[in-house]
Amino acid sequence: MKNMNSILKESVISLNDYFDTNQVDDFFQLVDQVIEQLLLEEAHEQVIHFTLCKASLYFNVSHLTLASQVLAENATYIEKYGDVAQKIRYLNTLAAIQGRNDDLEQAFMYLDRAKQLAEQYDRTHLVKIYHNLSVYYFNQQQFDESLLYAQKSMAYFAATRKEGTQNNRALMNYAKILIAMERLEEADELLEIVKAQLQEDDGESRLAWVKTYVEWLGKQQQFDKAYAVLKQEIAQHPNKHSWNKELYELLCSLSKKTQSKRHYFQDLKQLKQTMDLVNADFVTTQLQSVKKYVDIEQLQKIAWCDPLTNVHNRKYLEEHYEVFSLRYHQHTVLVFDIDHFKEINDTFGHISGDQAIQQMADAVNYFFEQQKAMFVRYGGDEFYVYYQGPSEADVVAFAHYFHETLIAESFTYEHMTLPLSVSMGSVYAAETHTYTEWFEAADSVLYEVKRQKRGELHYKTV
Ligand code: GH3
Ligand code: MG
Repeated sequence: MKNMNSILKESVISLNDYFDTNQVDDFFQLVDQVIEQLLLEEAHEQVIHFTLCKASLYFNVSHLTLASQVLAENATYIEKYGDVAQKIRYLNTLAAIQGRNDDLEQAFMYLDRAKQLAEQYDRTHLVKIYHNLSVYYFNQQQFDESLLYAQKSMAYFAATRKEGTQNNRALMNYAKILIAMERLEEADELLEIVKAQLQEDDGESRLAWVKTYVEWLGKQQQFDKAYAVLKQEIAQHPNKHSWNKELYELLCSLSKKTQSKRHYFQDLKQLKQTMDLVNADFVTTQLQSVKKYVDIEQLQKIAWCDPLTNVHNRKYLEEHYEVFSLRYHQHTVLVFDIDHFKEINDTFGHISGDQAIQQMADAVNYFFEQQKAMFVRYGGDEFYVYYQGPSEADVVAFAHYFHETLIAESFTYEHMTLPLSVSMGSVYAAETHTYTEWFEAADSVLYEVKRQKRGELHYKTV
């Protein structure tokens, strides 16, 4: 981060903040831009960090396809540049996605790979991985294995635990396994311990506690008490629809056994209403927001990309110029325009003209592939390249080399190769300039070439 310019640094801080505080909208609006800049900086660790954040946020808003897609697209990159912790995080996210897709075998495979990496290189991750493995075995009804990993997870938690932190989630998981194994007294002890530790705001843990406690009561045949506990809990948070849906499900299965038919139907009705509310919440919050992120990406692509050549357009240049120029103080602008392009259209047709522009754009993209450059189709047959360096001494040689390369790229039309004549201006800045100053300088130098002799290259220092 040391050499990053201050705008990018600030963006990185905001982005981390958005992620930590779950400001999903803000995060998604900024993330692609930042990743793009970080890639230019070759800040691989940060790129991977935000890529993983992106995947886990998609996961959190239940867009599993996009989450998988982000991970798949970056798999090779993460393999190459990720550190062990990031690879573990990557595998954990993949496992979570597969788990949610009910593909437990795949989930297990990823968890197992994460476990091997963690055991070998970075044991701090074992608390979570062992916990997930325990959940996996529980779902497979392999309770001995499940208990083993729950114990391992808790042992690592105890060894690495920070002052004041509690692992209620793991304790509840442990109690649940014990109940499934009919070890009810031990489960009871754990339930008591967790109950004493629960705070008012421990939402998720409290929900897990109630569910496990009700299960325990059921095993003890104390159905009436279980029913009363659930009723009381639901009354405490009428607006937590998704929690109450889970609690009503338990309640209905109890009331079917213990209550009158009329009562049971009333409970079923409540369950149905709660489910409708959950669906409504989901539609209004999650689906809409997910749709928005998808649209933002697509809209940005449409707004910033030229559909014919797939290179960036003028709008992209205008919106990114400032960040680019701040980062690369010393940069040069090349502007070029095909000569008598109208004649190509008139002689060979518009489609051939399109192909000529595409071929030109491909050649330039290839030329600047390894450089820190912004290449845009400004409009029609006119292009701009903003690139970092070279030094003033090399600028002329570089521009020449580029111009020669470009005119050597002949345009192919039905087995004929036709050379394209290109007029070009190269502007070097001895000091910092605004976008408009740059643009005016580039425009005037190109105008001069066209006026004096097409097909040439002129230089200017501003
Ligand atoms: P000059 O040497 O002065 O540059 O002459 P020119 O004929 O190249 O004219 P100019 O650069 O002013 O205009 C570019 C022409 O390119 C105008 C238009 O007919 C054509 N053009 C612009 N965009 C496209 C495109 O997307 N496809 C095709 N086939 N032609 C285009
Ligand atoms: Mg032209």
